[in-house]
Amino acid sequence: MADVETGAAIIDGKAFAEGLRARIGVAAANFAHQAGRRPGLAVVLVGEDPASQVYVGAKGKACEAAGMASFEHRLPADTSEAALLSLVERLNHDDAVDGILVQMPLPAGLDEQAIIAAINPDKDVDGFHVINAGRLSVGQEGFVPCTPLGCMMLLKDRLGDLSGLDAVVIGRSNIVGKPMAQLLVDANATVTIAHSRTRNLPEIVRRADIVIAAVGRPEMVRGDWIKPGATVIDVGINRLPPADGATKGRLVGDVAFAEARAVAGAITPVPGGVGPMTIAVLLRNTLVAAHHHAGMDAPEGL
Ligand code: NDP
Repeated sequence: MADVETGAAIIDGKAFAEGLRARIGVAAANFAHQAGRRPGLAVVLVGEDPASQVYVGAKGKACEAAGMASFEHRLPADTSEAALLSLVERLNHDDAVDGILVQMPLPAGLDEQAIIAAINPDKDVDGFHVINAGRLSVGQEGFVPCTPLGCMMLLKDRLGDLSGLDAVVIGRSNIVGKPMAQLLVDANATVTIAHSRTRNLPEIVRRADIVIAAVGRPEMVRGDWIKPGATVIDVGINRLPPADGATKGRLVGDVAFAEARAVAGAITPVPGGVGPMTIAVLLRNTLVAAHHHAGMDAPEGL
C-alpha cells in the first residue's frame, strides 16, 4: 500500500539497471577470459533520426562500459533495402558478432519486417524476429524484447510471485504490449490487454494489481484509475512542449505520476524507471547470445 505521508514506493529502475550492468560486466569479463574474445553487438543505424542517433550512441557506450565489443554501422538515409539486407547477412556470418540490432524506425521505403526477418534469430537480441516471438508464445527459450523483459525484472524484484494477480497491459505493440502480456501470463498473472478500442479503460485499470502503461500518450492514466496499492510500471516516454522560455520540454510517462503515486503501492518514475532497463537487458541478451554462439552455458541469474 501507499504510505499516507509519502505515497507509493518508487521503483528505481536506474539503480536496478546499474546493478544488472555491473553483473553483466563481470560475466562479460569471464566470457572474454574463456572464449578469447569479447561478446560483440553490431548496431545498425540507417539515416539521421536524432532520437535514433542518441539511442545508438548510448547502446555503443553501454557495450564498451560492460566490456563488450560494439560494432556501429551508420548508413545514409537513401540506403537501398538490398544493401541493408546484404549488411545483415554479413553480420549473420561474422564470428565476432553475437547480437545484431537494427535501430527502428527505418526510413520510409525500407521494409522493417523484411529486415528483421533477415537477422539470424540466434543473434536477434532485440527479440523482434517472428521466430523469437513464436518461441515466447509457446514457452521455448529465445530472445525476449528488452523493454518488457526489463519491466518483468522490476516486477519480480518488487512483488516476487505474481501468481493470481490481475494485470492490465495498456498497449498491444509487438515490441512492448504483446510480449509484456505474454510474460505476465507465463508468470501466472491474469492478464487484460487494452488498446485504443478498449471500452471503459478506467474501470478495467481500477481492477488491476499490476498496471503496465505502454501507450505513448502523456499522463493518460490518471490517479483515480489506480487501485489502492497497485504496482504501476510506466513504459511511456513523452516529451511535453517546452514551457515558456525553456528550450526543451519535460519528459513524462503515460501515467500522471503525482496523482498515481498518491494511490499506488509502487510506481516507476519517468525518467529513471523502465528506460534504463531497456539498454541493460540488451546487454544481457547479447551476453546470452555470446555464450550460445560459443557453445557455452549462459550464466544463471541475469
Ligand atoms: P505503439 O505506438 O506501437 O503502441 C501504442 C499502443 O497504445 C497501441 O497498441 C495503441 O492501440 C494503444 N493506444 C493508443 N491510444 C490509446 C488509448 N487512448 N487508449 C488505450 N490504448 C491506446 O507504441 P510502443 O508500444 O512502441 O511504445 C509505447 C510507449 O512506450 C511510447 O511512449 C514509447 O516511447 C515508449 N517506449 C519506451 C521504451 C523504453 O525503453 N522505456 C521502449 C519502447 C517504447 P492500437 O493498437 O489500437 O492502436
